[in-house]
Amino acid sequence: MFDKTEYMRRYYANRRKNGICTACGKPVEESRKGKAVCGICRSIRYVKRKEHWKRAPKSYAKVLVKNAEYLHARRLDRIAKGLCPECGRPNKTALRLCPDCHARQLEYEREYYARKHMRKMPIDTNGGKRNE
Ligand SMILES: [Zn+2]
Ligand SMILES: [Zn+2]
Repeated sequence: MFDKTEYMRRYYANRRKNGICTACGKPVEESRKGKAVCGICRSIRYVKRKEHWKRAPKSYAKVLVKNAEYLHARRLDRIAKGLCPECGRPNKTALRLCPDCHARQLEYEREYYARKHMRKMPIDTNGGKRNE
């Protein structure tokens, strides 16, 4: 009987041995030598996997929700105790975050908007504003 699994296994092993991408059949880049797929196919796979998560098994969505709930509860708990919701250290400032986390947050936002700008994506001018 024709064993397809065995055939595919040998087929892939052979390609891999010859430095051929098992997905598209093009030579694998020198820098990726020994890998099963070329750089392009690898990134395609990566995107596809992300798409897969987006279409999302319900179980994964549940994990995300649980995680978000946990983080939210932890934040509220920390704020109630007068701690920084980010790092959990005592926060004596009037700011939501402690000075360290506040600075990090600002830095992050600056980078985020700079990246957004670089990609020439429309910037939501209201969404980025904060009441401070
Ligand atoms: Zn490829
Ligand atoms: Zn902090």
